[in-house]
Amino acid sequence: MIYADHAATTALSSTALEAMKPWLQDKYGNPSALYRQAREPRKVIDHARETIASAIGALPEEIFFTSGGTESNNWAIKGTVFRGPEKSRGVVTSCIEHHAVLNPCEFLRRMGYAVNYLPVDNEGVVYPSTLVDDFGEPPALVSVMLANNEIGSIQPIKLLADVAHDFGSLMHTDAVQAVGHIPIDVNQLGVDMLSASAHKFNGPKGVGFLYVRKGVKLEPLLHGGAQEEHMRAGTENVAGIVGMAAALQEHIGNLDAETIYLKRLRASLVEALKETDLRFRLNGAEKRIPGSISISFYGVDGEVLMNRLDLKGIAVSTGSACDSKRTVLSHVIQAIKMPVEYAYGTIRITPGMENTPEEMRQIVSQINEIIMTHKTWRNDNAGNDDPN
Ligand code: PLP
Repeated sequence: MIYADHAATTALSSTALEAMKPWLQDKYGNPSALYRQAREPRKVIDHARETIASAIGALPEEIFFTSGGTESNNWAIKGTVFRGPEKSRGVVTSCIEHHAVLNPCEFLRRMGYAVNYLPVDNEGVVYPSTLVDDFGEPPALVSVMLANNEIGSIQPIKLLADVAHDFGSLMHTDAVQAVGHIPIDVNQLGVDMLSASAHKFNGPKGVGFLYVRKGVKLEPLLHGGAQEEHMRAGTENVAGIVGMAAALQEHIGNLDAETIYLKRLRASLVEALKETDLRFRLNGAEKRIPGSISISFYGVDGEVLMNRLDLKGIAVSTGSACDSKRTVLSHVIQAIKMPVEYAYGTIRITPGMENTPEEMRQIVSQINEIIMTHKTWRNDNAGNDDPN
């Protein structure tokens, strides 16, 4: 088995698991209670909040625990728009966001709010000038992802935040693919809100956080108990929060080594690809998440390729998927306007620290065999006239 889909999720690290164990069984007190068994979980949550805040240059009181990236994004977007004076104003986002941003925006559009989508260039990068040029009434919120989950491109968040603030808008970034993988400082980014999810950096699933700059007014999404300063009700996922903090701390400590290693894995894979006769394109911007490799093969069906790799024990992702009648391209692949002969043959390979350069070569060797022995793809791929 070769697992090379770390943008989808990652394994729980041993450090995170060990940190979580006591809070799963022995130390089960409810952090909101007033007796001794409650004080320990309360303290450990506070400690996790400090760890996470310092990992992104925030203050502890600016970190709110959630159930993950989807909830953080929903809260940032709806919570801003539903709040007081911003009520009548809509949202500007980009056309390559994750559905955890696109769908809350679509929900707001159905409710009558203005929602506008910034275009991207063919490397999947938003031009800040489009924010100035295209939109008349200033939105309540500009929400643009820090790094794209399909092609890894990193967005000019600081520039976008400056423009958003000139308009009097708040700036949110979905940093789910970035936190733990590139250095992040919320002050340097200039954002008012930032979403993250633990399972993307070897933490547990179903837990994440939303950074909310001090002074920013948000409407809560969940109403109930007084947890998280009355902003996010519900008994805390103590073990999850502890595991997330341990995993993030571990990642931040290994950031440089991880970046160097993942770049090396990418280089091994690209080198092996160039030694084949396959016609392919590499997608995304030069500035990207280190472990992100999006490749489009000429004349190939990405979903079929992914399924055949799965049969050989290799887990990767695709940029196209079959519904009942036809193959549909992902909105990201559509947005970067890739030539159609390549677009349908897009796969995403996202290695992690446990993968090896040899595994990267094995993946290429299997891709080559699958494509070259396919009765129609083979002709399309004969002759490497378009290597890059
Ligand atoms: N945003 C991005 C960019 C993602 O890649 C993902 C997960 O794939 C999410 C949001 C959703 O995060 P979660 O799975 O924690 O809800």
